[in-house]
Amino acid sequence: MTEIADLIEPLIALRRDIHSQPELGFAEHQTAATVAKLLREAGLEVHEGIGGTGVVGVLRAGDGPRTLGLRADMDALPIVEQTNLAWASRNPGCFHGCGHDGHVAMLLGAAQALARDPRFSGTLNVIFQPAEEGLGGAREMVADGLFERFPCERVYALHNWPSLPAGTIATRPGAIMGAAATFRVTLEGRGGHAALPQDTPDAILAASVLVQQLNTIVARDILPTAAAVLSVTEIAAGHTHNVLPAEATVGGTVRTFDPEVQDRIEERIGQICRGIEMAFQVHGNLNYIRNYPATINDPQAAADALEVSATVAKAELAPDPAATSEDFSYMLQQCPGAYIWLGQGRGTDSPSLHNPHYDFNDDVLETGLLLHMALARHWLRD
Ligand SMILES: [Zn+2]
Ligand SMILES: [Zn+2]
Repeated sequence: MTEIADLIEPLIALRRDIHSQPELGFAEHQTAATVAKLLREAGLEVHEGIGGTGVVGVLRAGDGPRTLGLRADMDALPIVEQTNLAWASRNPGCFHGCGHDGHVAMLLGAAQALARDPRFSGTLNVIFQPAEEGLGGAREMVADGLFERFPCERVYALHNWPSLPAGTIATRPGAIMGAAATFRVTLEGRGGHAALPQDTPDAILAASVLVQQLNTIVARDILPTAAAVLSVTEIAAGHTHNVLPAEATVGGTVRTFDPEVQDRIEERIGQICRGIEMAFQVHGNLNYIRNYPATINDPQAAADALEVSATVAKAELAPDPAATSEDFSYMLQQCPGAYIWLGQGRGTDSPSLHNPHYDFNDDVLETGLLLHMALARHWLRD
């Protein structure tokens, strides 16, 4: 019998219980209360209400000066579940379709097991964050003083990964998840008669030239070996045949893996808009909104994570980052660490994350728990 065998069955029951009662971002009141209660029962010092519904448990052992953070996310998605499982959502339109129920169970289990038998020296902070799905719960915890109140020299997070087979763990140095941004340019002319072009700036012509010039940015302004996507996805102007409209709008999305590339693209969109203003006598207004930044793993933390992962499962270097994004990026901006993919695939028809048929694979709960424990004992070793 392994040191954690008796924990697994109750944790699977807990995971399914959380699954059946999902809560959306910043509304994880019941989930956070359960987490806090179980951490307290395990003997951790517990802090609630950080960055909204965030919870931090502190476990000290020995007199080592080192500190580590391990993160799990707690929120569900606004999706109608279609699994028909016995533990399916009882909260219609809300669904643990990203496996955060499993993340909570794995980190709680690791905290319980380490509290019982630490075999480390230092301070472990287990971080349960709200609102990963689009609302930036990690950013709110950081803004609420997470790392000032609970110093961490390093921080790790696991995410289950359906495209990776169960029993495999992967990560990589540098970018592992992408940054997403959206832009919208409004070009204002004056509006006027279509038969009198000499009197009226043409916002439609300005918008069509803008679309073409935006499509030169990735090809002409970005290092050929860097990856980036700029797609124009909206263009709107005009409503009849004899009026030059007063306004045209152009919108789209930008995906990057390097903050400098993101900066350069935003700068170039601005420069091109100024050129369009001058050339077509329109007034341009650029609204560039950065969503989550790229998730950038510290190279040493990623190397350590692979070494430690190999002690609990098959570990492999991920060849490419994923284009989806993750708000653990805000924690990695403050503290070196790594984001790690825990394989949970059950063959080729494994539903992807955010699919209404998805369910966290309980077979990998033990692997994730052991990985959290091994990461703690490795970084906080005597
Ligand atoms: Zn998700
Ligand atoms: Zn997720």
